[in-house]
Amino acid sequence: MFNLKPKPFSGGVHPKGYKELTQQQDISKDFVPDRVYLGMQQRNGSMLNSLVAVGDTVVKGQLIARGSNDMTVPLHSPVNGTVVDIKPYLSSHPSGIKSQTLVIANNGTKNWGIDYPPSDYQKLSHEQIVERVLEAGIVGLGGAGFPTGIKLRLARKSKVHTLLINGGECEPYLTCDDRLMREQAAEIIAGIKVMAKAIGATNSIIAIEDNKPEAINAIKQASDGISGISLKIVPSLYPMGSERHLIKAVTGIAIGPGQLSTAQGILVHNVATAKAVYQAVRYQRPLIERVITVSGDAIEAPANITVPIGSLVSQVIAECGGLKAEAKRMIAGGPMMGQVLPSPFVPIDKSVGGLLALSEEQINQRQSQDCVRCGNCVKVCPMGLMPFQMATHSNNDDWQGAQEFGLDSCLLCGACSYICPSSIPLVQYFQHAKSNINAQRSMMQKSNLARQLTEARQQRLAREAAAKKAAKAAKRKRPARSRSTQGES
Ligand code: SF4
Ligand code: SF4
Repeated sequence: MFNLKPKPFSGGVHPKGYKELTQQQDISKDFVPDRVYLGMQQRNGSMLNSLVAVGDTVVKGQLIARGSNDMTVPLHSPVNGTVVDIKPYLSSHPSGIKSQTLVIANNGTKNWGIDYPPSDYQKLSHEQIVERVLEAGIVGLGGAGFPTGIKLRLARKSKVHTLLINGGECEPYLTCDDRLMREQAAEIIAGIKVMAKAIGATNSIIAIEDNKPEAINAIKQASDGISGISLKIVPSLYPMGSERHLIKAVTGIAIGPGQLSTAQGILVHNVATAKAVYQAVRYQRPLIERVITVSGDAIEAPANITVPIGSLVSQVIAECGGLKAEAKRMIAGGPMMGQVLPSPFVPIDKSVGGLLALSEEQINQRQSQDCVRCGNCVKVCPMGLMPFQMATHSNNDDWQGAQEFGLDSCLLCGACSYICPSSIPLVQYFQHAKSNINAQRSMMQKSNLARQLTEARQQRLAREAAAKKAAKAAKRKRPARSRSTQGES
């Protein structure tokens, strides 16, 4: 076990943690929603095709929808029950858009539909492990939502040597990973061994922030004496949970802008993902539930709770005693990088690790003032950017200007907004700019695709016309040849 120097990367902030609201309570496993709402559109925009119909009985863990490729992770029923509706329903996207949604009424039983005998991962090939992870519909539970099986497969191809497990959990309020490490350390370690085999890594490192002493002890005990697995304690500093900053803090290696960590031989996964991988490979259990932190000063009884995927935010809040004050803002995730929820009636998807309900007092929405050129935002930016300059361009819809100041490298971590004495919502400007740039890119891709299809069609029509012409010419010649052949015989 190593302790690292206090400031392992430049920038960063120390926001108030509020972790004491939930960190001393065991994870609750009692929550049973009466219905679950499972969106058929995934975070990356790809669609799933339903394999069930209204009226069908489904069992816990049953495959109920799948996409057309591995980038679209399959969906499994989180409960035993009946499909009661398939309809457009609110998604957790901040815009409040609706997507086609399977609604399943829960019959309240908790048994799995099929109980597979445990498998020994040592007897599985790396590709068999990847297949099980893909079939289990696992995505990165740290919030990125990228299919884990694909990440493992690509890491093996890239000859990754080090698996870095992120136990940072640097966002304020969130303690679900902390509790998971304290309560289920053995399963996390088992998942790390499985992932290391899948990618061929010889070295696995679990990195935990120094504000989680119980989790550090639990992981230390569970990994004690296991060769190839070590623990590193990193200082609590936001955004330590960012992949590139954790890598810098633990290994000293700087991942350049636009570079993948796998190019440096390192793959990063979250502790909760490691546990989900263990369940998928050992018991063939798909990802149908996850632990989330429900917190904020408007929540009556903040808690860490195991939530079936598709549970409504309103149901989860009711399970935590409801609201004790008006929630001026509800957030999926943490307060720095989370997404403001458009309604309490949206379902929780696989990438949501926290649910916050904050009162007006806690939000402390001060009126935004003019920039005083204090330079604080520059000092805390962990990417070494000039946020006030990017903000000037973004605010004027000058996306190119914002990009010239490094918008593409911005993590949207919110450290600059947090520190700004003028309460300028810098990160909101950057989110707005990035979504506009993405929309422009996607329009350009669509028009390029349309142009390519038109060109391909024109070429095909030209080929067909030429073929027809050639066939006609051949037909005209054939009788003459035939007559001449008859004459000769
Ligand atoms: S949101 Fe972007 S600009 Fe602001 S501190 Fe984070 S990385 Fe830097
Ligand atoms: S922290 Fe705020 S006021 Fe200071 S330079 Fe940055 S944007 Fe301007």
